[in-house]
Amino acid sequence: MVNQVKGTHDIYGLEASEYGNIELRAKLLASLYGYREIKTPVLEHTALFKRAVGSSTDIVRKEMYTFEDKAGRSLSLRPEFTAGIVRSVVNNKLYAAGELPVKLFYAGPCFRYERPQAGRYRQFGQFGVEAIGAPSVYLDAEAISLGYRIIESLGFKKIVLRLNSLGDEASRRDYEKALVAYFSAHVDRMCSDCQLRLKSNPLRILDCKDPDDRKIIQGAPKIMDYLSKESAVYLKQVELALKDLGITCETDGDLVRGLDYYSGVVWEYVVADEGAPDVGAVGGGGHYDRLVEELGGPALEGVGFSLGIERLASLSSALFAGDGLENGPDFYFIPLLQEALERYFPIVEKLRLAGLVVDMPFKVRSPGTALKAASKAKAKFAVLVGPDELARGEASVKNLRTGEQVSVPEDELLSSLAKMLEKYLDELCRKMDGKDAF
Ligand code: AMP
Repeated sequence: MVNQVKGTHDIYGLEASEYGNIELRAKLLASLYGYREIKTPVLEHTALFKRAVGSSTDIVRKEMYTFEDKAGRSLSLRPEFTAGIVRSVVNNKLYAAGELPVKLFYAGPCFRYERPQAGRYRQFGQFGVEAIGAPSVYLDAEAISLGYRIIESLGFKKIVLRLNSLGDEASRRDYEKALVAYFSAHVDRMCSDCQLRLKSNPLRILDCKDPDDRKIIQGAPKIMDYLSKESAVYLKQVELALKDLGITCETDGDLVRGLDYYSGVVWEYVVADEGAPDVGAVGGGGHYDRLVEELGGPALEGVGFSLGIERLASLSSALFAGDGLENGPDFYFIPLLQEALERYFPIVEKLRLAGLVVDMPFKVRSPGTALKAASKAKAKFAVLVGPDELARGEASVKNLRTGEQVSVPEDELLSSLAKMLEKYLDELCRKMDGKDAF
């Protein structure tokens, strides 16, 4: 037996349904906000991530899957999407193709060589958006709100939105000076990575996960105290725009995000519903001033976020499992004799093409065994056809949740089954107490 690669996982069963559901809702909502899909390669030149994400970030220094191809090029599996998307916008001059901003959404796998743990994989799915070329408080607020609404549409009730600003270049310069002054007094007691970070990129010390270093980091100066007036006003305006949309946020002076391209507003989403397992942030994003230019494009600003699909899916299964979101067929057809199987084989196909999810075993079994199989398949209804039903031109339809059973004439099968399913789903929705937002 060959096992899966450490830190990767197979997605099947209920998790696969959740995964698909999350991507579908995210794509639908992003489309409503005017975003269009983009697909970029998983493989990119390593230089792209060094330049965009930053050579001194943990992602680039320690976590990339980097290798030489047969022609000696250094390539990396994407550890995140923004760099590849901005590269594509620049390469394909998408900024010149129409009205700005260019609004794009994406979904697909990313790869980071991290220590696997709950909610942390080496291959994981992200959904996200980028809006490039028309900087505005409202565009930032719109992106923040879209991510929030996607999470909300999955049924989560308590979404904590943490917001901060990394300021403009002047704020960043002042802040870095303050960090260097503070950490210089402590760096002898800090890890070797932090000693390097102090020289190359002091802001990245704030990402350090070493527990002893974290204690020192807690006492470090906060970016909030170094924001220029413009940056502070901008942050306040984003907060107010979100308030108008009914979204409240927590200002979190410790939030810096682990990617170098961010400047200005940055944020993270955490699901804090009662009983939610701690999987870390489900998503995060920020504004970037210079990334497009650094990748060879014009001076255009952008904003974007990405959501971690595994984290959302695991929260959804933990909080909503048992709510009836089973991924079995609507109807499980049970032929109790060979003639019934032959007669209903084409009828089952007609029902499927009419939009009903129908499954059937291809052998005749006793009613008891077949009903057990229907429950195991997590079907909502069993459709039984034995000798009596066949003689009367009927089928017996059993609701597997309530046990209720009715006879339905064969020529009314489609309309009757469709009505029964609608009633079933209606009751389920009411039971789920408005979990579905749309
Ligand atoms: P980032 O690209 O670092 O801003 O991460 C955005 C989101 O992707 C995070 O909030 C997580 O939900 C998710 N994510 C990041 N790294 C991992 C990982 N190793 N495993 C699973 N999800 C991740």
